[in-house]
Amino acid sequence: MTFITLLRFILPLFALLTFSHSTVGQIVTETFPVKTDSLDVFFEKIVLDGHISYRNESTNEIISEQDYITLCGADTHVHDQFTTHDYWLCDRVNPYHDVDLPTPFMISFDQTHFTHPVDGEIVITSRFGRRRRGPHRGLDIDLVTGDIVRSVLPGKVRFVGYSRGHGKTVVVRHANEVETVYAHLSAYDVKVNDIISEGQIIGKGGNTGNSRGSHLHLEVRYKGVCIHPEYVFNFDGSQSIRSMDLWVTNGWKSPRMHSSYRESDLTPLVTESDAIASQDAEPRYHRVVRGDTLSGIARSYSLGLKDLCDINRISKNSILRIGQVIQVR
Ligand SMILES: [Zn+2]
Repeated sequence: MTFITLLRFILPLFALLTFSHSTVGQIVTETFPVKTDSLDVFFEKIVLDGHISYRNESTNEIISEQDYITLCGADTHVHDQFTTHDYWLCDRVNPYHDVDLPTPFMISFDQTHFTHPVDGEIVITSRFGRRRRGPHRGLDIDLVTGDIVRSVLPGKVRFVGYSRGHGKTVVVRHANEVETVYAHLSAYDVKVNDIISEGQIIGKGGNTGNSRGSHLHLEVRYKGVCIHPEYVFNFDGSQSIRSMDLWVTNGWKSPRMHSSYRESDLTPLVTESDAIASQDAEPRYHRVVRGDTLSGIARSYSLGLKDLCDINRISKNSILRIGQVIQVR
């Protein structure tokens, strides 16, 4: 009796007991809608003793993992990567508040290209970085209200809704747990839990939330941490991902290390040792608290008072403000 034949025998029993979406013994099931050319078919993923197969929910036919991949094409990884759904909360943009992610960390992509979120030439109006009214954690792309907005990668929609500041927002989670956030939309074209393909329209651009003029605010996040979008995606027209394995240092998640008015040096860090060396060379900052003095700050970071003042282009008699940020390396 082959493995598949065995499953054909066992599965109707489970169907009778309606154990869909649950774990019974060693069988784990999860249902995925799969779009084929003709119609939407639902497949149930079955893991038994480490073997993966799929059951077609309308015909009960069980097919091997390889046949499933052949049938569904390149989109299959989307289904398979979402079996854990860690922090899959659909009522907030960032569900990762209690996650502390040490840097450097690596993100990995299983493809080298992406699709522009807006059609036509990409016009960047503000970058990830410092700007006059505070840190900017995304990339602003010019558009006209009503222009279509597309998902840059295949994925699954985790959030659709209004968020203070972001306005009408869609968050898509991708296979590597990277999420892309599309903000200031005027309309939605997807709903939560939709499995979407690369380039699929997720909504229309707009000017909702804290926005001055129609534009798309695009964020790239990993476990809640905003990463410089241009460090990940190359918007020069090549539609390439800068590296399939990409190391993120403190600098690539810190707006204060960049200017939103000009492009940073976007050379990707592709090995852990390069990432550690790069992070060690990045500037460090201290936020002034009550009681701080320049000489006290200099001492605690093993700096001379003159060096500290030179780095920050201030005099040693400068008055410190609480909350002021002082560079300490
Ligand atoms: Zn923005």
